[in-house]
Amino acid sequence: MDHVNLDLSSSDARVPTLGGNSLCTSYFYKLLTFRGVLWAPASSIWDHIIPLKSRIFLWLAFWGRLNTKANMVRKGWSAVAPSAGCDACPAEETADHLILRCRPADAMWSRLSLATLACASPNIQQFVCQAKDHLQSTAKWHVAFAACAVTLWQARNDRVFNDKCWPESYIRFHATNLLSLWSNRATKQPDKDDLAPWITILSN
Ligand SMILES: [Zn+2]
Repeated sequence: MDHVNLDLSSSDARVPTLGGNSLCTSYFYKLLTFRGVLWAPASSIWDHIIPLKSRIFLWLAFWGRLNTKANMVRKGWSAVAPSAGCDACPAEETADHLILRCRPADAMWSRLSLATLACASPNIQQFVCQAKDHLQSTAKWHVAFAACAVTLWQARNDRVFNDKCWPESYIRFHATNLLSLWSNRATKQPDKDDLAPWITILSN
């Protein structure tokens, strides 16, 4: 303490040492709960433009926790899912299959010139990440992906539970509508501007 010289002319203030601007409740919460590793897709999911229900769907999809037939067979739900096969094509019905490689997904990603990448990607996380290298503009790509993924899941549910097969044109129409609806949640004009090209590409 002998070496400390107090500067009485400047005001006293507490500042956080690990980032942030102020010592608020959220700062201490993050300090206590942060485990040292950031999950890469988190920023692709937890965007306020995407409705909470769809954000939770995406979280489950990224972690492979959706109630797909493959997962239901694994859980032993034989009464609900006697087999793990996809009813649209000869493959195991996993989240990665439904969103990347299933027949309706192929039509969706072809529109964005991402079909080859989707087929080659081992999982959703890598697809979302690597697609950025193939797209002309990546602004709000994760929101466009979210609208497409939610649409593909809803098309799957209608096919499985109601025996309804959505035509390719209706799938894109549905994704476009979803994206238009979500763009109303954007509070900043630049975010709306970033979403507009995706709506145009999917609707054409
Ligand atoms: Zn399939």
